[in-house]
Amino acid sequence: MADDFYLRFWGVRGSCPCPGPDTLTYGGNTSCIEVRAGDHMLILDAGTGLQPLGESLRARDGIEADILLSHIHYDHILGLPFFRPAYHPQSHLRIWAGDCNGGIAVAMHRFVQPPFFPVPLQQMSARFSFRDFSAGDELKLAPEIRVRTVALNHPDGATGYRIDYDGRSICYITDTEHPDQGYDRDIADLVRDADIVVYDATYNDEDYPAHVGWGHSTWEAGLALCEQANARILVVFHHAPERTDAELAVLDQELDRRRPGSLVAREGMVLNPEAPDAKVLNAGDAMSDARLKLLQQMPIFGGITDDVLAFLLARSRILTCNAGDYFFNEGDPAGELYVLEKGRVEILRNWQEQEYRISTMAQGDCFGEMALIDFCPRSASVRALEDCSAIELSASALHELYEKDPGQFTMIYMNLARELSRRLREVNDLLFQATIQVRRHENDCIHPT
Ligand SMILES: [Zn+2]
Ligand SMILES: [Zn+2]
Repeated sequence: MADDFYLRFWGVRGSCPCPGPDTLTYGGNTSCIEVRAGDHMLILDAGTGLQPLGESLRARDGIEADILLSHIHYDHILGLPFFRPAYHPQSHLRIWAGDCNGGIAVAMHRFVQPPFFPVPLQQMSARFSFRDFSAGDELKLAPEIRVRTVALNHPDGATGYRIDYDGRSICYITDTEHPDQGYDRDIADLVRDADIVVYDATYNDEDYPAHVGWGHSTWEAGLALCEQANARILVVFHHAPERTDAELAVLDQELDRRRPGSLVAREGMVLNPEAPDAKVLNAGDAMSDARLKLLQQMPIFGGITDDVLAFLLARSRILTCNAGDYFFNEGDPAGELYVLEKGRVEILRNWQEQEYRISTMAQGDCFGEMALIDFCPRSASVRALEDCSAIELSASALHELYEKDPGQFTMIYMNLARELSRRLREVNDLLFQATIQVRRHENDCIHPT
């Protein structure tokens, strides 16, 4: 399958989270990447991006995942205490780390405990396993997934990874400092002929000389490495907190000019090693043609421009839901609308302790839209009939649109009103027919007037 191996960026910054007006596009969370390889979930680093990743999985009954840590500096582990699946008794999290002094289990228990954090790690409900290894080892995660590792040049050490699955490969090389001359041979060997190389580009040639010995690299060194190792797509990552959206956008263009297909990592971006230019896109990527088209076909986005849809997509998440799991339950608090991108769902309501199916929905349908009008709790439950994914559009994203473009914002709400009005007419008809039938049944003497 073309889309069973991909990565999604949840945090792309180094050093320190940096939310703010200058980081809206590329994101302010620290290192965290979700990798899916068939049924397996791998997570590269547990920086603050792990928190929104956990939220995206909230509809699940626990998860099983391998968390591969580059190292345990704060920016790579800070998300763990805030990872919702870590509090689910059916979750199993395997945490891997290379050459961790004293062992990763001890380090993580020391990190997650009072007075730094109120819940000690051993009281978090998930099952944790800790796996130490030496950089250079090959890790056995699953028979069909090959994970190789390499030592990186970073204070206190760090590990780089290469994940091979079904003939395709993703490499994760952060945090590391390139050598004075040439390139790191061990890293070049690891990333040779890889499809995607995510690389530490905290600095550039201009600001690097002031930071020699800090353990980070530049995008220029990343390009040279990929050139040398014949790797296909360079994705620069671990952006310095002070790097603004405007600077990164310029860099994005420069990279594409220097080595076509190369790009700057951005929160929400999804890359698939099989796509010709690796840009298989998701809600976070403004250039997601497939998603734009899907949204444009929906009544609520009638008359909405490409730009505005891209703006909304960049502020939306993708929620996945396994067959049998619920997107939400009747009575849950509500503030989002969902556009079903994949799979089918059923809409269920409870009555006298029985659950009744009201309807089913398929790809392209949307549900939960009343939440954007009245903010009342969910009036029905939505359960996946097969493995599903949906774009989650929040009231807060629409609020941002209000500030940017009140005309387009109004258009969306007019469309919503029209859709609700259409449904109300349907309900009116049904109610009328039901009432007549009941009356006929009761006295059999109603006369048309
Ligand atoms: Zn870092
Ligand atoms: Zn570090």
